Amino acid sequence: MTGFGQDTTGSGESAGPIGRDRGDEPVAGKFPRHRLTVVSGPSGVGKSSVVGEMRRREPDIYFSVSVTTRPPRPGEVDGEHYHFIDRATFDKMVANDELLEHAEFTGNCYGTPRAPVEQALRDGRPAILEIELQGARQVRVAMPEARLVMLMPPSWEELVGRLTGRGTEAEEAVKARLAEAERELAAAGEFDVRVVNADVRVAAGELLDLVIGTDVTT
Ligand code: 5GP
Repeated sequence: MTGFGQDTTGSGESAGPIGRDRGDEPVAGKFPRHRLTVVSGPSGVGKSSVVGEMRRREPDIYFSVSVTTRPPRPGEVDGEHYHFIDRATFDKMVANDELLEHAEFTGNCYGTPRAPVEQALRDGRPAILEIELQGARQVRVAMPEARLVMLMPPSWEELVGRLTGRGTEAEEAVKARLAEAERELAAAGEFDVRVVNADVRVAAGELLDLVIGTDVTT
């Protein structure tokens, strides 16, 4: 047990950094539905920007903070963008079944701490995971009621441009991410919904409609 998102207060609130983003206002009843939405899509498609925009507009939604063995990029904050952990800690979390899903992606491990997601859903908050394809497939099996959304680039050329222009990764890493991106896009048909990210605010609006729109039949 590593304590990520575990409730050690006895109050039902998470004691860890996960879950602290919740404001003081109760959210129960605020949302017409509270289910899990998985947002996937190839590296460089703009998942973080779109999810960041959603978060600004709707802070009461629970946005999962993953664990990863990848080192932080400049500007990334531990506990906010990811929980940066070592491989031994990651393996322990897997062994203890503390991760809702997990995957290896271009040489690093990533996973979703299970407890805070389940707590958010119990609290009546929709929850969003921003994860890659293997993880999305695991969630499909573990929680068939979850909705899987794939964020798509306007075109392959645009994606290559975004990935090579990011400048945060060595050439080899960019190549690996492009190969992975091709595989991810080939799986678009497995997803319930596909949203094209030509404009971050438009894509965030479309996703928010899917997550908290009042049409409870969708
Ligand atoms: P990055 O290293 O660029 O932050 O993330 C690499 C990929 O891992 C992205 O596609 C991102 O969505 C995905 N990812 C981030 N967190 C998780 C997670 O908890 N589980 C899985 N399966 N993928 C994740």
